[in-house]
Amino acid sequence: MNASQKTDFDLIVVGAGMAGHSAALEGVRCGGRVLLLEKTARFGGSSRMCGGAFAFAGTQVQKENNIPDSAQLLEEDLLKAGKYRNDSKLVHVYAEKQFEAYEWLQDLGVVFDKVSLSGSQSVPRNHNVDPVAVLESLHEHCLREGVIFRSNAPVVRLLTDGHGEETVVTGVMLDGGERLTSSRGVVLATGGFSRAADLVERFVPHLRNARAMGGYGNTGDGLRMAWALGADLRDMANAKGTFGAPYEAPDQAIEDDVPRLISAMYRGAIVVNKLGRRFVDESISYKNIGDRCLEQPDALAFQVFDQSVMDQSEPLPTVVNFKAALEAGMIKKAASIDELAHELNVDSDALKETIERYNRACHGEQEDEYGRSSLSTGYGKPTPMIKAPFYGYPCTTGLTSTYCGLHTDENARVLNVYDEPINGLYATGEIMGGFHGESYMSGSSLAKGCIFGRIAAQHALASSATRLDRLEI
Ligand SMILES: Cc1cc2nc3c(=O)[nH]c(=O)nc-3n(C[C@H](O)[C@H](O)[C@H](O)COP(=O)(O)OP(=O)(O)OC[C@H]3O[C@@H](n4cnc5c(N)ncnc54)[C@H](O)[C@@H]3O)c2cc1C
Repeated sequence: MNASQKTDFDLIVVGAGMAGHSAALEGVRCGGRVLLLEKTARFGGSSRMCGGAFAFAGTQVQKENNIPDSAQLLEEDLLKAGKYRNDSKLVHVYAEKQFEAYEWLQDLGVVFDKVSLSGSQSVPRNHNVDPVAVLESLHEHCLREGVIFRSNAPVVRLLTDGHGEETVVTGVMLDGGERLTSSRGVVLATGGFSRAADLVERFVPHLRNARAMGGYGNTGDGLRMAWALGADLRDMANAKGTFGAPYEAPDQAIEDDVPRLISAMYRGAIVVNKLGRRFVDESISYKNIGDRCLEQPDALAFQVFDQSVMDQSEPLPTVVNFKAALEAGMIKKAASIDELAHELNVDSDALKETIERYNRACHGEQEDEYGRSSLSTGYGKPTPMIKAPFYGYPCTTGLTSTYCGLHTDENARVLNVYDEPINGLYATGEIMGGFHGESYMSGSSLAKGCIFGRIAAQHALASSATRLDRLEI
């Protein structure tokens, strides 16, 4: 590129999910000319399909419910969930900036009026919202405030100038060869690689039988493009599946209208395999139940419960919307355990015996065979399964998200294998590695994408001279 040539944009953001929209909106608000590119026909990626839980601390709804939370406690929970193998600098940024992100989303019209407890949280801090509404609102703000958006625009390569340490990312090339340049950088927000069978095989082969879920465009494109420039990768071996995905994927036409995951075990369901036997303490993290499920015959499990659990169905969070799953035919209903076993094609005597043993443990007549003593991570008491009708949900482990990938610094700059920033290259959202460490605290992905997306745009647009001008090529 010639120095006298003007660049097309100040900032190019690749991928239009939560992370990409946050970067793009912040970019125009910082005065930049911003292009947001989306590979598929529909923006939103996994963000649009997800449970809509944001992990924030110190919020109004927590105060109203007397939940004593703080940024410090949230930071400690994130580190504890990651077994202290996270990049603590990134976790600290989340803790410092999360309340600002919460207020920023509220200013866009997002209403956080419901809070619930979920995996690895020591107090309830998942703020549940409708993810589609949040994405639509972000998108509308982006367009209104001047972001240029293009769908069906897959980025296939990063453009660079210079060599070695002097390499600067100067833009992107689209499928078909169109080149678009940016003066202040490129933000990769292309999500994870749950839909890339080759990357799953390479990095997490133990998840090859997990059902691929998440955004249909999430094939690790950004990861590959940055990797080609020497980017460092973090947490790759730590990707985990999520228990509770439907065994048979619902038709794509109705996918948006039904819960993508169901977690009845935290409301009192037991989990059995196709032999009608339990295989796990159902109160542990859904990530760890997911690992155990993959070891069962055909990786098939059933969440089995009675009417008292069905009565706890609620629209949000969607993982407890048992009624919607029942209406969509994902959950089977039967008048007796015998009939349920028949519906599920499970041995009836084995299932009856399993339930009887579980009920005896609930009544304190014997030890629970898997050591279950709560509904979820120490909260709630297991309840006997006695109230007909009975329900069974055939399910498996889904690979919803990968939560590993490009290592970044606190300013969301992608670092190379020598721990040096790659000039002009940023990453935010699920594509980032290093943040979660060994495991994931529920609700931290959406918020992370928002926090680091905004930081990426602020940092990129704060530099006083354009990178291309400085290069004098
Ligand atoms: C069923 C389910 C439930 C979940 N529940 C929660 C939850 O409640 N809370 C939470 O915090 N997290 C949850 N997660 C995880 C969370 O949704 C994701 O990690 C997060 O939304 C990722 O956001 P993102 O913006 O980084 O990526 P995405 O939202 O996936 O967006 C990435 C976008 O980039 C596009 N793209 C990919 N490659 C290219 C390319 N080459 N060129 C242009 N565009 C490209 C994709 O098409 C996609 O639209 C859930 C995930 C799933 C699947």
